[in-house]
Amino acid sequence: MKPDPLGDWRRTHFSTEIVPELSGEEAVLMGWVTDIRDLGGIKFFILQDIRGSIQVTAPKSKVDPEILDKINSISKESAVGVKGKARAEEQAPRGVEIIPSEIRVLNPAKIPLPLDPTGHQKADLDTRLNSRLLDLRRPKSQAIFKIKHAACQAIREYLISNGFIEIHTPKIVRSATETGATLFPISYFEREAFLSQSPQLYKEVLTGCFDKVFEFGPIFRAEEHDTRYHLNEVLSADIEVAFVTKEDVMGVLEDVLVEVFKKVKQKCSEELKVLEKEIDVPEKPIPRITYDEALDKLEEAGKRVRWGEDFSIPEQRELGNIINGAYFVNDWPADLKPFYIMAHKENPKLSHAFDLLYDEIELASGGTRVHQKEVLIKQLKNKGLSPKQFKYHLKNFEWGLPPHSGWGLGIERLTMALTGARNIRECVLFPRDQKRLTP
Ligand code: ATP
Ligand code: MN
Repeated sequence: MKPDPLGDWRRTHFSTEIVPELSGEEAVLMGWVTDIRDLGGIKFFILQDIRGSIQVTAPKSKVDPEILDKINSISKESAVGVKGKARAEEQAPRGVEIIPSEIRVLNPAKIPLPLDPTGHQKADLDTRLNSRLLDLRRPKSQAIFKIKHAACQAIREYLISNGFIEIHTPKIVRSATETGATLFPISYFEREAFLSQSPQLYKEVLTGCFDKVFEFGPIFRAEEHDTRYHLNEVLSADIEVAFVTKEDVMGVLEDVLVEVFKKVKQKCSEELKVLEKEIDVPEKPIPRITYDEALDKLEEAGKRVRWGEDFSIPEQRELGNIINGAYFVNDWPADLKPFYIMAHKENPKLSHAFDLLYDEIELASGGTRVHQKEVLIKQLKNKGLSPKQFKYHLKNFEWGLPPHSGWGLGIERLTMALTGARNIRECVLFPRDQKRLTP
């Protein structure tokens, strides 16, 4: 039997729990070595863990020669355990350091490292993504994912405390929900299947039994985009609610967005500081303009968009500049929106669909859905889709499926808005894009 690599050691403190008031107390810390310095009579290294870092100081006069040898042999980014005593020291970062009595190298890092996790030496995004583990030890990368975590937590907590039930729908599906062009086909035994583009159809059905549902899950888009805003695998937060219209779910989305910004501002002040990002909590009500009004505003700004066309990123940026911050664009041309969106009664060219934008990026899309089977069949056909393909889905509409509305919010886009990341790939641990399938 192999011995336990940690022996009898377990972490007693995180780095940031070591404060000057603890001077004299013994602690065991676990983490990674980020910086090593030798000033002749004294050796230092910085031990990093998930909470922060602490200086480990070995004065030649005070520690065992064995420890000095050990420090000499450690490579940066090795996983180590350190036992020692805290000592208040004005010169040390945060006014405290650890004087080691024993160091265990738990797994040495191989040098040279492909990148410098302290971030002093700049590396391009590709190099960083290829060595993502090391990159994720950089304070800036850590900050992005801690903020993403806080945002997801805020959304979940808000929805759960407002009576939403979390659902998990299949990611291997038989047919498209958006358009067939953006599906990833997979082989499913003898048949063809696809990766799910959206939980759309399942979440709609589930309003017929659970009333208010939400899901956090991946969506897969076989889009050939190569932009700063597109991935081929995205984390989406989706909701769907029975017996309401789009106005109601826009209210939920507004609350969710404000809640996310508030919570991130409260809980992640350190991370925002690391990113040099200041965030303003959007004020309610978030402005709502119609698609037609958006066209007018763009025209006033000298940007002409033909009715029926989607906005480009520069056009969205222009609107973002005019409106400043977050805003809804409501009542889109039906041709731009999927088959399951309800059309306006008096003008079927218009749909009950909305987008939520933040500066130049679309964060979410939603709308009032069709709940009548015959209407849905008509709209499927209008989009060139075959009702036969949707046989099982359509059955649900014969069983009292209530009128319902909902939205889908892209979590990486939201993370961009919160962190100021310029490229969406910064906001996903292991991005999937046209060129990148590994790591
Ligand atoms: P866009 O027009 O910006 O490419 P979309 O309108 O095709 O997005 P939807 O089908 O409305 O996207 O998806 C809902 C949300 O999911 C979007 O508002 C966005 O936040 C996110 N999303 C969709 N596709 C992508 C993608 N390829 N990369 C990153 N996020 C995406
Ligand atoms: Mn959209």
